[in-house]
Amino acid sequence: MVWPGNARLPGAAVGAGSAMTTNLLAYDLDRLTTFCEGLGEKRYRALQLFRWIHQKGVPDFDAMSDLARGVREKLAAVACVKPLAVLSQHISSDGTVKWLFDVGEGDAVESVFIPDDDRGTLCISSQAGCAMGCRFCATGHQGFSRNLTTGEVLAQLWFSEHFLRRHLSRKDRVISNVVMMGMGEPLQNYSELLPALRVMLDDHGYGLSRRRVTVSTAGVVPKIDALSQDCPVALAVSLHAPNDDLRDKLVPLNRKYPLAELLPACRRYLAHAPRDFITFEYCMLAGVNDQPEQAHELVKLMQRYANGTTWCKFNLIPFNPFAQSGLQRSRPEQVHGFARILSEAGIVTTIRRTRGDDIDAACGQLAGDVRDRTRVGERIARQRTLILRPSSTSDLSVKET
Ligand code: SAH
Ligand code: SF4
Repeated sequence: MVWPGNARLPGAAVGAGSAMTTNLLAYDLDRLTTFCEGLGEKRYRALQLFRWIHQKGVPDFDAMSDLARGVREKLAAVACVKPLAVLSQHISSDGTVKWLFDVGEGDAVESVFIPDDDRGTLCISSQAGCAMGCRFCATGHQGFSRNLTTGEVLAQLWFSEHFLRRHLSRKDRVISNVVMMGMGEPLQNYSELLPALRVMLDDHGYGLSRRRVTVSTAGVVPKIDALSQDCPVALAVSLHAPNDDLRDKLVPLNRKYPLAELLPACRRYLAHAPRDFITFEYCMLAGVNDQPEQAHELVKLMQRYANGTTWCKFNLIPFNPFAQSGLQRSRPEQVHGFARILSEAGIVTTIRRTRGDDIDAACGQLAGDVRDRTRVGERIARQRTLILRPSSTSDLSVKET
C-alpha cells in the first residue's frame, strides 16, 4: 500500500456537526442508551448506533443502513459524530505513525501508532499539555492548557483505527493495544478518562481486553485507588528514581504523593487486578538515575513492598532528548548494567526499544502545540538544574541556572 506521505490532511475533518448538536463519540454505551431513550428509542437502537460508530467507523447517520429513516433523521437533527481535525501526519521509517489533532483554540494533541509483528499499539493523549512539570518530559515543559473531553480522547482511537483499516485494507482490528502514554496525566482527567476506557473495553465498541489497555501515571494516588474500583486496566507508574530526594526533583508530583504513599497504592491496585503486575517506567538519564548503586537501591525498595510475591516489572526507557531539557540519554552499557542488577534480583526488566525517533514520536517528545497558560515552561527554566556527572551518584548535585 502507499501511504499518503508526511503532509497535512486538510480533508480529514469530516462529519463535524454544529455546536448545538451532541457529539455521540463522547458516550459510553450506558450514556448512549439514555440518550436514545430520551429520543423515544429502545436500547437495541443504542447498541446498533454504538456499533456503527465504533466498530464500523461510520460518522454519517444516513449511511447507517439498518436504522429506519425516521430514526436517522431524528439523530441528524440533534446529534453528530464529530472527529478531530488532523493537522498533520508523519510516518517513521520504522512504520510508526504520528498524528497531530486540532482540539481548538490553538491547542493540538498527538497520538502515535506503533506497529509490531504481533500487535498494533496506539499511544493516546489525555490532556493538551500537562501540569505535572516532570523534568525530562517535553510535554511537561510546555505547561498545561486543558483536559481533553471523553469525545476527544476517543476521537484519537476512532480516527486511527478506521484510518489504518482503510489504508491497510484490513477488515479486522488494527489496534490491539491502547496506552495512555501520550500528552498529559490521564489520572488528572479522571472523569473524562473513565467513560473512554469503558468504550475501549466494550465488546460492542473496541473490545479490547483489560490487560491491553494501559493507563500510565506519574502517581496520582487517590485516582489509582479510584481506578482499581472503577475499571482496573493495566497500570504503569512512572517511577524514575529509587528515593524521594531524587524523585522530588524529577517528578514534582512526588512531593505530594511520596513513595511511601505511592507504592502501597500500587500494591492495593493489584488486589483488584488479578494476575497483573504493576509496570514501573524508568527513564534512563545519564548520571542522574542510572548508576549501579541506584539500581541496588531500587531493588531494596521493591523488595520492601513485595511480601514474598512477584508484583512488578520494570521498563527502562532510554531518555529521548529534546531542546532545553539539559539532560542526556544514558549510554547503552549503563542501561544494560542497570537492567542486569534488577533482573538478577528477580525483577522482570525490559529495555524499551525507541520507536519513531525520526518523527519526534518517541516517549516524552510529544509536545503538540499547546498554549502554555500556566507558564510551567518558564517555571522549569527558572528551576534549579540537575548537573550531570556520569561517573558518580554522590556527585549528583543541583545548581541555580
Ligand atoms: N503522564 C503519564 C503518561 C504520559 S508520559 C506519565 O507520566 O506516566 C508517558 C511516559 O513517557 C512516562 O513514563 C514518562 O515518564 C515517559 N517520558 C516522558 N518524557 C520522556 C522522555 N523525554 N524520554 C523518555 N521517556 C519519557
Ligand atoms: Fe506530565 Fe507524564 Fe510528562 Fe510528567 S511525564 S510532565 S506527568 S506527561
